[in-house]
Amino acid sequence: AKGAGKNQWRRYQPALHTAVLDRMQLRTDLDQAVPSGELAVQYQPIVALDTGRLVGLEALVRWHHPARGLLTPAQFIDVAEESGLIVPIGYWVLERAITDAVAWAGELGPDRAPYVTVNVSVRQFRCPGFVDRVLRTLTDAGLPPERLVLEITESLLLRDDDRVWTDLAALRAAGVRLAIDDFGTGYSSLSYLRQVPANLLKLEKSFIDTILVEPDQRSLVEGILRLAHTLGLAIIAEGIEDPAERQVLAEIGCQFGQGYLFAKPMDYDDMIKWTLAPDT
Ligand code: C2E
Ligand code: CA
Ligand code: CA
Repeated sequence: AKGAGKNQWRRYQPALHTAVLDRMQLRTDLDQAVPSGELAVQYQPIVALDTGRLVGLEALVRWHHPARGLLTPAQFIDVAEESGLIVPIGYWVLERAITDAVAWAGELGPDRAPYVTVNVSVRQFRCPGFVDRVLRTLTDAGLPPERLVLEITESLLLRDDDRVWTDLAALRAAGVRLAIDDFGTGYSSLSYLRQVPANLLKLEKSFIDTILVEPDQRSLVEGILRLAHTLGLAIIAEGIEDPAERQVLAEIGCQFGQGYLFAKPMDYDDMIKWTLAPDT
């Protein structure tokens, strides 16, 4: 096999070339996605694990590509990050999600209205004027700041940048809530959590995946839960697919969860139908 190396390279080169061109094309197409109205947002329920009650909805971006069909973030978020297009895309999602959250409060009644969570990339967060723009969007739409949760990542908190911390504090002071997304995948220690003005921790799916089979994993998650609760943080377990996972998580005191067990991300209309269905 070793001897064939040179030949393999010659054979693979066109494929590599195609991949690069493909990516360049995707980048060009993505430029048009916002102005052409090709982006969409789907919503995935976040529920209370004991009762199944809907508490929040996560906004997840989708791209209806004119030639390639429906694309999920895995297929274009890298290109969006590298090119900086994640910034206008992020604002588009934020505005759409806030507008939709005002609409669903009208349909479901203000008392039952779930909060909306929006993913914010590091690049978008660090753009000058981010906080002002978030607060202005809320005011213009008439959504109470408490009903917006921004999902940020550990990598944002690891940046040696004082402005990140003052911006986070400003958002909290205005009433916007913060969730740390994919918690447990970063390199940070647990101790820094004390300083973060967050309200929620989203525990990464990989923790949940092994909770039924590995006793150590259950203890680890219990430890994280205890620490989080001490710090006044609620936990949302991500990627729950199995009723037994839900059971264990509820037993060890995890309040909230999200995953295919409850619902996949849905278009706005399907989400309203799901929410109003009698068994939820
Ligand atoms: P994320 O923020 O961790 O979002 C959760 C992802 O897990 C979503 O994938 C969701 O569909 C998927 N998921 C939910 N429940 C389950 C489950 O039970 N099993 C499995 N296997 N998967 C589940 P999606 O929508 O493809 O999004 C992927 C990632 O793209 C997101 O991960 C987030 O990091 C990023 N993303 C999505 N929308 C946006 C956005 O508007 N802005 C930014 N910056 N990033 C976004
Ligand atoms: Ca997220
Ligand atoms: Ca996540």
